[in-house]
Amino acid sequence: MNNKFYGKLIFELSQTGRQAYSLPKNECSEYALACLPSHLMRQQAPLLPEVDELSVVRHYINMSNNNFGVDTGFYPLGSCTMKYNPRINEEVATHREFVGLHPLQCSETAQGALAVYYCLQTCLADISGLSEFTLNPYAGAHGELTGLMIMRGYHMERGDLKRTKVIIPDSAHGTNPASSAVCGLEVVVVKSRPDGTVDIDDLMPLLDETIAGMMMTNPNTLGIFEHNIGKIAKAVHDCGGLMYYDGANLNPMLGKVRPGDIGFDIMHINLHKTFSTPHGGGGPGSGPVGVRAGLEHLLPNPRVVKVSEDGFETFKLQCSDQSIGSISAHLGNFGVMLRALAYILTMGREQLKWVGPLATLNANYIKESLKDVFELPISGVCKHEFVFDGLKDKTSGVTTLDVAKRLLDYGFHAPTIYFPLLFHEALMIEPTENESKQTLDEFIHIMRQIAQEAKDDPEMVKTAPHNTPVRRLDDTLAALHPVVTWRELQAENY
Ligand SMILES: *Cc1c(COP(=O)(O)O)cnc(C)c1O
Repeated sequence: MNNKFYGKLIFELSQTGRQAYSLPKNECSEYALACLPSHLMRQQAPLLPEVDELSVVRHYINMSNNNFGVDTGFYPLGSCTMKYNPRINEEVATHREFVGLHPLQCSETAQGALAVYYCLQTCLADISGLSEFTLNPYAGAHGELTGLMIMRGYHMERGDLKRTKVIIPDSAHGTNPASSAVCGLEVVVVKSRPDGTVDIDDLMPLLDETIAGMMMTNPNTLGIFEHNIGKIAKAVHDCGGLMYYDGANLNPMLGKVRPGDIGFDIMHINLHKTFSTPHGGGGPGSGPVGVRAGLEHLLPNPRVVKVSEDGFETFKLQCSDQSIGSISAHLGNFGVMLRALAYILTMGREQLKWVGPLATLNANYIKESLKDVFELPISGVCKHEFVFDGLKDKTSGVTTLDVAKRLLDYGFHAPTIYFPLLFHEALMIEPTENESKQTLDEFIHIMRQIAQEAKDDPEMVKTAPHNTPVRRLDDTLAALHPVVTWRELQAENY
């Protein structure tokens, strides 16, 4: 761990007059300075830390060492698919010609970038079995909103204005009902059966002429594949609704099952999950949306299309009046698209087929190795992730939160906790396909050790973490009242 000096904030290292730079002489003439309105002139020097270059470097390197990422350790955060981002992706994404592009550049001078965009949208259509994709949305939730607007657009152009409800299972990711509400659709919740799948008997009576469609995640957030998907899709279609697929966690399906082939009409994919590319801390993301044939005209403006003129292929931006409109300032987060395309092309069709099976194997290996000490509410084969309901032996009072905090002491990122809401002590584990058996074994060993510690020394687990730069935080206060600047910290009088 850092010693006291390195742990100091950069303002605390400040010494008057010390500096890490020397700027060239100010060439701004007296006259030019005199032209500046006085109210825009600084009356006092800005409050900046005065430090030497070496201290600046140490400060930032030490701070980065306090961070945790996929590159530093195992990151089994369920529903987030924290997979390794191959270095070649970064090389491609930081290519000078791509980084130097301006978002307002005319399409004639950005043909290479548009070719990348077009190629990725074609790959995604092929992978998902749908007709066409837009890459414009900035995140999964943004993709959901875009997809639901397309769903609404479909009913509206047919004059079917009564369809204002969307059916969502109670195991769904929180963004599903949130996006529906933002889109002006009313949410109708359908219950899950004890095995985690949709309760068809609960679903059938909900289907009438007010249903715009149904949103589903498959495998769902419990990692369980909906075997009745064909039946569900048929029932929703028969009642006139559309099927929306939340493909944020497409990982277990890659190369095995195509959402378009099992009855889905609209879907989004999280490039920043399934298709590598680093994420966390709120971005950057990309939530491409795909539609089946017959819905393409509703996709947001502009679309990237390929045209052949005089034997030459060129790419153009196309806008249509029938579209739901524009949903992003430009064409989305291009850097994320470059990483995703690099990932798809370096893997290739044959290798991509292994992603789902290996992610599934890893999840089942951990599940089976720990189910004698952690409560497994839904048994059987899971897909990419699964959920424990806390420790099997709950007599010590050690909670899921305590287990998660204790994992940090051992250098592992915690799984997702207290989601989905179906179980009180949910602990949701998703290992991804890249992890070696050694890493999984080490994780299993530590999880078993924590279960033992909960018996032998519950107080120690309840007060974890002990070895991290900061101890247990007040998560709610940190979210509601974040202290992110030096000035705020001083005002807080810590
Ligand atoms: C992550 C996730 C989302 C939301 O994606 P964001 O990019 O965070 O907006 C939606 N649904 C599921 C199932 C997810 O796992």
